[in-house]
Amino acid sequence: MTAPQPALSVVVPIFNERDVLPLLAERLRGVLDGLGEAYEVVAVDDGSTDGTPAALTALRAGWPELRVLRLRRNSGHQAALHAGLLRARGGYVASMDADLQDPPEVIAEMLRRARAEGLDVVYGVRADRSRDTRFKRWTAAGYYRLVRRLVGEQVPGQAGDFRLLSRAVVEALRGLPERNPVLRLVVPWLGFPSGEVAYERQERAAGRTKYPLSRMAGLAAESVTSFSAAPLRVATWLGLAGVAVCGVLVVIAVLAWFAGATVSGWPSLYVAILFLGAVQLLCLGLLGEYVARIYTLVQGRPAYVVAADSAAGDGGRPDAAELADILR
Ligand code: UDP
Ligand code: MG
Repeated sequence: MTAPQPALSVVVPIFNERDVLPLLAERLRGVLDGLGEAYEVVAVDDGSTDGTPAALTALRAGWPELRVLRLRRNSGHQAALHAGLLRARGGYVASMDADLQDPPEVIAEMLRRARAEGLDVVYGVRADRSRDTRFKRWTAAGYYRLVRRLVGEQVPGQAGDFRLLSRAVVEALRGLPERNPVLRLVVPWLGFPSGEVAYERQERAAGRTKYPLSRMAGLAAESVTSFSAAPLRVATWLGLAGVAVCGVLVVIAVLAWFAGATVSGWPSLYVAILFLGAVQLLCLGLLGEYVARIYTLVQGRPAYVVAADSAAGDGGRPDAAELADILR
């Protein structure tokens, strides 16, 4: 990391975005060149299998500020973002999606506010999601309500991963032992002085979404289990409720026995067995979620492996410092 430090890094996770890259390069470059300061764009190629790697190489030929970080395999949006953040060299580090849903012009505004008001974090907040589907809006609203309860009110509603961080925040993130943190929750949790810039969420400029429902559900589950052990307590409460109900049923059974009316009643037995079986499986499953987290942590495998960094200067292979970082 001997290169001079640019004032700004922009991290862009990219997975199979061949069609959108030329549009992205044109708009982002226009904005960043206009700042009149040294910058770098860290394009994190998250193991793309379309023409993305070739397109990035071609772009780099005419755009020296473009730096390409290639991951060995598709590791997911959050992991790609984390990889880029930890390797960005800028005094400020912005992150945005490749598909131009986050307008690059907003980055200039974020930087201006961060400097003018001495902020360490500036969130891009979606003022208008009318271009998203109704389903996406509903699930997003539910998600933000939930995480605000878990992490605290400092989590801005409707803020995804479009934001600007100061060097201090990036260094704080580097110091966390988590290997694949949910950045949109961990950043507010750190508690640095922050501000918001409202923007209008645009439609995808080209290509298709890489976030199917299963990935959205995965992010939500990860968000909950990484910030709260409350689901584990569900088992305790269900158990207590079960004991109370059993107490009542035992009294009823004893009375019925004295009254000599104890033969009929298989439906209640049947229902009770099914119900208890279901509750036990549910609780085992909840426990399993946390055991899985411990398991992954103990394995200590990195969330991604960097294959090449165009800024490493040795033919694109990661240098010793970066290798140490990857294996950290
Ligand atoms: N992305 C990635 N790895 C993945 C999936 C997505 O790096 O496994 C990138 C993708 O190229 C885009 C950003 O993450 O730049 C957000 O993805 P997308 O726009 O598909 O999500 P949506 O906006 O539909 O939620
Ligand atoms: Mg998108």
